[in-house]
Amino acid sequence: MGTNKANEIYDVVLANGRVIDPETYTDGIYNVGVKGGQIMAVTKDTLKGKDVIDVTGLIVSPGFIDTHAHGQNILSGRVQAYDGVTTGLELEGGILPIDEFYDNCSKEGRPINYGCSVGWGYARCVTMCPELAVNGKAVPESGFIFGNLGVEHWVMDKAEGADLEGILGLVEEGLKQGGVGIGVAWGYAPGATLTELDEIWKLAAKYGRPTYTHVQNLSMVEPNSGYKNHIELVGLAAATGAQTHICHLNSTSLRDIPRIREVLKNAQAKGLPVTTEAYVWGAGESGIGAAEFDPSDIRERLAIDWSDLTLVKGLHTFSSKEEFVKARTEGPADQVIVHFLREDDKPEDMALLDMSVLYPGASICTDALPWVQPDGKFYYGKEWPIPENLNNHPRATGNYTRFLRIWARERQVISWMDAIRQASLNACLILEEGCPQMKKKGRLQEGMDADIIVFDPNTVGEKATFTSPRELSVGMKHVIVNGTLLIRDEKLDTNAMPGQAVRSPIVA
Ligand SMILES: [Zn+2]
Repeated sequence: MGTNKANEIYDVVLANGRVIDPETYTDGIYNVGVKGGQIMAVTKDTLKGKDVIDVTGLIVSPGFIDTHAHGQNILSGRVQAYDGVTTGLELEGGILPIDEFYDNCSKEGRPINYGCSVGWGYARCVTMCPELAVNGKAVPESGFIFGNLGVEHWVMDKAEGADLEGILGLVEEGLKQGGVGIGVAWGYAPGATLTELDEIWKLAAKYGRPTYTHVQNLSMVEPNSGYKNHIELVGLAAATGAQTHICHLNSTSLRDIPRIREVLKNAQAKGLPVTTEAYVWGAGESGIGAAEFDPSDIRERLAIDWSDLTLVKGLHTFSSKEEFVKARTEGPADQVIVHFLREDDKPEDMALLDMSVLYPGASICTDALPWVQPDGKFYYGKEWPIPENLNNHPRATGNYTRFLRIWARERQVISWMDAIRQASLNACLILEEGCPQMKKKGRLQEGMDADIIVFDPNTVGEKATFTSPRELSVGMKHVIVNGTLLIRDEKLDTNAMPGQAVRSPIVA
């Protein structure tokens, strides 16, 4: 016990909750005192506060950390807060320019903590196709990349000589500006060679930051399979020593999850710096114009049919190749949902999803994109509640709450302690070497950042579905970001913008 916690007046006191801390394995009834954005007391003693909230019967844990949050905007952050997310990072795609991204977010304000890696794809796009740049630079938001997916040169051609120098220069500049590693969405520029990636990995190693990769081939068909890519990525980790984070093990592995999981486990057992993440849905989403949605062989590569593909705009499900090709030609930036597993109907598909979601040390992520307007464009406004004409994949609304409902409460295949660890602390363990700020997150302990969620274990769950993606999750009673109540009694404070930047050290 500290000296005078009983006399201290805290900003917020959470009284009598079931506190779960996944680092110390604390699980018991405690009072939590928050002051100045920090957790200042976790104690059995009664605490005084300006605002004392009785949380009897509720779980108090660190807020969830999304290692794959493309929606770096106000609406996405608010919706994610109902899902228990207090930090969302755009790591796979990354962003450029880094300074401009952080300046924009801080000027406009964000409900939850935000951050990004350096977008290798952005660097490639504006270097190889300078006519796509705006004022000589990329635009720091994911709509920029999706809008340019249909331009073949930066997507399909290899970069050599001055092009490669240009790409490496922009990536290094982003690392110096504090990008949280390098986002390598290889599958969106599958023309990039191992020679180019080897240079990217060397830069990551030089700055002590991770790479985050979406594999080159979304395919189970040999020889250019995703399985082969994973072995190449393990090879890059071994050859350069750079931490190699494999994005969304659940989705890009398709039905090869068992053998890809084996590759990663064996690499880790040999001490290689390989990490991974997964989200809890058997369907992904991306721009329909992406190379991996090439209609000529998509059914074979992904083992799916046309009816497994749904356009987010209007939620239209396809019925033929002709229809899909037409939509792809007309709007290559439009988002499409792809069902590669049907876990709600097929136990064998749920078993595949389990192998990624429950992977020891993996972080739970969402891969959620910004909300989509009727015209297919991303929405960056501030209206609340979610405007009725917007659509998304339900992972944007209910992912962590779905994890808690299905895996922890209903199927009981993971304990509350381990579920919270998978959803919060694991992200910190993956990121904190290259981003020391993460050492103060993902933990419900004195001295840590007050990013705290309070939820009802008996009711917490997602309500969003593929046909009603706007239904907010339930059971997330209170959400505190940097000591400020963003959600109280399941009601959002629309004036609160307590999110802060998560950024690696800036190098002069
Ligand atoms: Zn991806």
